[in-house]
Amino acid sequence: LNDIFCGIDLGGTTVNIGLVTNSGGLVQQHKIPSGVIDGVDAVVDRIAKVIHSWQVEDDQLSIRAAGIGVAGLVDTQRGILREATNFPGWINVPLVSKIHNKLDCPVIMDNDANVAALGEYSFGAGKGYDHMMMVTLGTGVGAGLVLNGQIYRGANGAAGEFGHITIEKDGPLCGCGRRGCIEAFVGTNGLVGNVRQRLLSNMTSTLRTYNLDKLTPKDIYKEAVAGDELARLVFSTAGENLGYGLGSVVNLLNIQHIVIGGGVAEAGKFIIDSAQKILNEFALNNDAQPVRIVKAQLGELAGIVGAASLAMALI
Ligand SMILES: [Zn+2]
Repeated sequence: LNDIFCGIDLGGTTVNIGLVTNSGGLVQQHKIPSGVIDGVDAVVDRIAKVIHSWQVEDDQLSIRAAGIGVAGLVDTQRGILREATNFPGWINVPLVSKIHNKLDCPVIMDNDANVAALGEYSFGAGKGYDHMMMVTLGTGVGAGLVLNGQIYRGANGAAGEFGHITIEKDGPLCGCGRRGCIEAFVGTNGLVGNVRQRLLSNMTSTLRTYNLDKLTPKDIYKEAVAGDELARLVFSTAGENLGYGLGSVVNLLNIQHIVIGGGVAEAGKFIIDSAQKILNEFALNNDAQPVRIVKAQLGELAGIVGAASLAMALI
């Protein structure tokens, strides 16, 4: 009989719930709307209902522990979700004790970036590297650090704000209100902004036929794959800027391995190749075992598998 762990990936619009074996295999998965607007208790009830239905299905099923990953500021020690942009009104919610009351097993919670990093470290592209970072590229740029085989949370659980490292003090405006952050170059707005800027030149590009107000990284990627020079330049510039940030992290923490996930990571070869080139130039003491930048492996399951890995650490 396998040890079974529950992973709960709680997002603003959907909750992804799964059961995972201690070797990272997925045995159950179910996605439901989170319905955050109905309040904490209704959401907790909905999650518990899914898990209880699995227990009814299999009366031998015994869940050793459960992990929750959520996009927000989490106090892991106390099991409290302090605040989260996509959960309006959820302030200082004791989510761990609420879930624990329903499941009758140990429960632990962390933010989604940390959980994804732990998932990739335990069962994905970061396996075997006790000092690694996972960067998630999307609208924002988040990161989770695994140091000495454990998530590094910092003093207030706020570590891993890789996206807000300043790489150009007078650079483009970032969502955080400051200028020149990595996110302002590599996040969705940064990529689209760079397209806009390059289109001011005479360069020919199929991107001229797009409505720029609706342009997504996916569109840019499509054109890059089709050979559009401007689209490729936008990604390689983003990759270079990413590379400067990654080089700094490598120099500070001597991490061994970097995993890139998230929607924009689909543009993998265009971004990663140029990031790797800059990293190789800027990382010190990097000759014996050069740090490699690789794509994440768990994809959509990173949240569930990562949250379950977090739970495994409880046992
Ligand atoms: Zn910023």
